[in-house]
Amino acid sequence: MKSIYKLMAGAAILVSLQSAAMAADLVVGVSWSNFQEERWKTDEAAIKKALEAKGAKYISADAQSSAAKQLTDVESLISQGANALIILAQDSDAIGPAVEKAASEGIPVVGYDRLIENPSAFYITFDNKEVGRLQAEGVFKVKPEGNYVFIKGSSSDPNADFLFAGQMEVLKAAIDAGKIKNVGEAYTDGWLPQNAQRNMEQFLTANNNKVDAVVASNDGTAGGAVAALDAQGMAGSVPVSGQDADKAALNRIALGTQTVSVWKDSRELGKRAAEVALDLAGGTALDKVAGVQTFEGGPKKVKMQSIFLTPLAITKDNLNVVIDAGWISKAEACQGV
Ligand code: BGC
Repeated sequence: MKSIYKLMAGAAILVSLQSAAMAADLVVGVSWSNFQEERWKTDEAAIKKALEAKGAKYISADAQSSAAKQLTDVESLISQGANALIILAQDSDAIGPAVEKAASEGIPVVGYDRLIENPSAFYITFDNKEVGRLQAEGVFKVKPEGNYVFIKGSSSDPNADFLFAGQMEVLKAAIDAGKIKNVGEAYTDGWLPQNAQRNMEQFLTANNNKVDAVVASNDGTAGGAVAALDAQGMAGSVPVSGQDADKAALNRIALGTQTVSVWKDSRELGKRAAEVALDLAGGTALDKVAGVQTFEGGPKKVKMQSIFLTPLAITKDNLNVVIDAGWISKAEACQGV
């Protein structure tokens, strides 16, 4: 009996040695859509760290907000020998051919943070609808009635609509009751802060500055909206939401010009995505990944294997959470307060 256990333990060691050796030979290619944004640098560091821990190699490319460049980036990552791909899609539709090419070569794809609605891809993200709910709740607590403006994300990113759906869940009753009026709603091309600022300026002009609350879908666009409010002497008196817990946004929260951000610990997302990529490259089936759940909530209702992490709202009252987590120093968060 003892020798059977010994044999089993030996086999288990062999399997784990084999998978460690396998991971050590693997190359993971990461295709970023818009690396200039603050948060992706944290995601990258986490992915790199997790790959290095397993002895795997990291290669990457940045599409610089161009859906066309992202297609050639993915081809280049494949020709550089990527055994698995992690893709932050610039455009969820335009990325299709790249995913098909990877699938035809047996290279697993992890759709990172943003949905790539193809059943051959894995999907790992934070619960984006919940992010939208937290954004709207943060603003609604401060302004339960009045004229609301919605600075949405990029229309080529499915997250923009998930966020908006979550925001509407929270605000619908007050909108139906006539307490809240939607006086402006626009996508932000490429999620760029300057486009958000321009949209915000137009909404302010169109409403003679009678804007009481701004639901902005991330911290970059919140920054654009706050700049437009500031130009009218309104920054700090109109609640504004965001997400990502960018350093500038956390500082705005401390200063009182932004009301809420939503923290998504991308150190965890990056780590998990790297591990999933290695598992898939090592032959694990999509539906056998640890912690997997199915998701069918995309625009095309495709059944996807996925992992969802939980976001957290950050306001002035719990800024200490991100400070304690080593996300930002107290000095940086509270600069100028
Ligand atoms: C991400 C956000 C990010 C935005 C712009 C979204 O898909 O979920 O965290 O701020 O893209 O890059």
